[in-house]
Amino acid sequence: MIEKKLNENLTLTGYGATEEVGRSAFILEDGEHRVLLEAGIKLRPNELSLSPEGLIEKAPELDAVLLSHAHVDHSGYLPALWENGYYGKLYMTEPTLDITFVLWKDHLKIEGRRHWSYEGLERAYENTQTVKYHERVEIAPEIFATFYNSGHILGASMILIDWKGTKILYTGDINDQQTPLFDGFEMPDEEIDVLITESTNGIREIIPRHEVNKEFLAAVIETLERGKKVIIPCFAVGRSQEVLCVLTENIKDYPIYVDGMINKMIAITEKYLDEGWVDGPLIERLKKEKVNSPFKYSNVFPITPEFYDSTGEFRTFLGKAKEPLIIVTTSGMMMPSPLHTHLRFAAQDKGNMIAITGYQAEGTIGREVLDGKRTIQVSGWNRKSTFDLKINAKVQRFGFSGHVSSQGLKDLISTIKPKKIIMIHGDPQNQADLKDKLTNGVLPVVAQRNIPIKLQ
Ligand SMILES: [Zn+2]
Repeated sequence: MIEKKLNENLTLTGYGATEEVGRSAFILEDGEHRVLLEAGIKLRPNELSLSPEGLIEKAPELDAVLLSHAHVDHSGYLPALWENGYYGKLYMTEPTLDITFVLWKDHLKIEGRRHWSYEGLERAYENTQTVKYHERVEIAPEIFATFYNSGHILGASMILIDWKGTKILYTGDINDQQTPLFDGFEMPDEEIDVLITESTNGIREIIPRHEVNKEFLAAVIETLERGKKVIIPCFAVGRSQEVLCVLTENIKDYPIYVDGMINKMIAITEKYLDEGWVDGPLIERLKKEKVNSPFKYSNVFPITPEFYDSTGEFRTFLGKAKEPLIIVTTSGMMMPSPLHTHLRFAAQDKGNMIAITGYQAEGTIGREVLDGKRTIQVSGWNRKSTFDLKINAKVQRFGFSGHVSSQGLKDLISTIKPKKIIMIHGDPQNQADLKDKLTNGVLPVVAQRNIPIKLQ
């Protein structure tokens, strides 16, 4: 058999999310063509976000741009490209576009025109071409992209790039766990030359999701049965839909209130509850329960002005209520948000529970609480002032993860048999640990920012 020769001039350069998590941006190029994968921002608590380093000068030279999923660390910088000389197309799945559009508008509200303005947003939106899973699209001469379900959030994809015959699989963010919406990532059915993989979890042990769900439900129900409240800070995109699916399937006798941007994300998710976008078990469940949505039950209430003149009044009403209830609300890392209003009422009662359901980044209030701090700064009624709040409620962390385990990565590697593995999107320690574990005869290369890696 003749060994296929890889494209000799093909390189990958990372402009962010190399030895870090956040501000993903990678350019594949061969001297003739250039394709950008992602352009995200890196959010930092109490500081302005960071953009990819050295990327923007490349904007006029790009032939195409691909987005794997909506999270802002992958999508938040994209509109800047059209304000800096890019005229081409952006490819992503349809749900990713719906979610990204909401996140872009939200970004303008939070950070203003620091990175880009409304004009950039509009042009990015107009120049987006949506794709379905498994649809092979030509994004530049002899360069094709195919999106596969990555099991991470709605619409999230691994992207297979056929670069003039060289097969490159970019994982984006992938999850191998069965979650309420997905059966883990989809395994591409072909051999791959180059794997570009996330490494967020390193070799950290991932508790099987069904066990996490069970532990979470037991703690929630125990609190409710004692007549107390459960406050669940939750990421708007992804995790809140997973948590709500678990709650609505199992809890019918207690009210579940949903606050913040989660409600917008639910409305988007409900557009895509078919087998093209989510996996079979959820569809089966909906059929069995004869409902159209896992988020619409008689005990689920969005905190919107529908019931009260203002959401503030609604929150106060819930805060003063004596009955057991659940509130699922942003922010997932306990930063200033509707959560702070709910905490003002619920945090002092030691019978209540605050359930932490996601990763807590360094420097966030959520991380402080996780590390044992029990007096936190919350925003006042007008959001301008802050004051100290004592937390007496029980704080419990549950081991949900949206990223792949090292075993999941090993399985992927043994199926697609890459000749080269490039590691991105992880902190250096996790990458070093993982590098030792993923030995199938190919030693992974850790990408470094602004340094091209030859793919041959
Ligand atoms: Zn993500």
